[in-house]
Amino acid sequence: MKVMMPYPPKVVIEEQGLRDGLQSEKTPLPTAKKSELIDALVDAGVRRIQVASFVNPKRIPQMADADELCANLKQQPGVIYSALVLNTRGIERAAAAGLKHVSASISASDTHSRKNANAPLADARRQFADMIKIGKARGLTVSGGLQCVFGCRFEGAIDPEAVFDIVKEQLDQGIDEIVLADTTGMANPHSIQQICARVIELAGGTPVILHLHDTEGKGLANVLAALSLGVDHFDTTFGGIGGCPFIKGASGNIATEDLVWMLSQMGIETGIDVGKIAAISRKLESFFKKQFAGKMHRLLARDDIQVL
Ligand code: ZN
Repeated sequence: MKVMMPYPPKVVIEEQGLRDGLQSEKTPLPTAKKSELIDALVDAGVRRIQVASFVNPKRIPQMADADELCANLKQQPGVIYSALVLNTRGIERAAAAGLKHVSASISASDTHSRKNANAPLADARRQFADMIKIGKARGLTVSGGLQCVFGCRFEGAIDPEAVFDIVKEQLDQGIDEIVLADTTGMANPHSIQQICARVIELAGGTPVILHLHDTEGKGLANVLAALSLGVDHFDTTFGGIGGCPFIKGASGNIATEDLVWMLSQMGIETGIDVGKIAAISRKLESFFKKQFAGKMHRLLARDDIQVL
């Protein structure tokens, strides 16, 4: 019997390994290697890539080459290259480097905002309004959004009403998309559905994107919960590279190849070649001399297991 579920027929995956993944790696990946990696991801079918973050290089040395990397991108038509910006200086740098799209994000948690963006939440909200103004004036499309929506390692639970309040504020300011980030991996399918359902309602036609971490092993379960609400855009990283900076050894984002694989088995299109992403992950594993937390890049390398 064929089980019909109301899932979206297509899903957009934004690959963020170069930003969310690399930012927690101490060994610098040379700029030329990052460019090669971006081209390889495009070749694998990825059509949205977050290539860097424009943050203080003293805080995140791996992102020190963001200006140079973005200015020299060979931007392919049909591919959205973006960067994360946390303040007005960041969005100015991104525009100057020739990006057409940025992801501007603030934290739903005041403590996380102070530690991650060096600003109390009230200041970050004010600065967000200025970021949007600059982005619009420079002709950029801007994803707005919130980190730690589903919980914070410092503050614990985050009040959903406070989240909805900031979402409304950002929508009023004219963001083009809204990204809800489970920065700490504390979401569960129930909280995903509760919060996403309301945000989808508030967003009207504005796309809602989920950025999920697999810290507690609930990443793909959370995707399924969101798919059932019609969410069709997720951020991932190759191999699941990355981690929560506040938890030593924590696993990272949901792995691109694991999500592509699950969706393809469900008959949901992504346009991404899972084998090519798996090969990229294995290459980067050997560069960083470590095992990434994802699953499929290892399984796809074994010819004794029939996966395709
Ligand atoms: Zn993240």
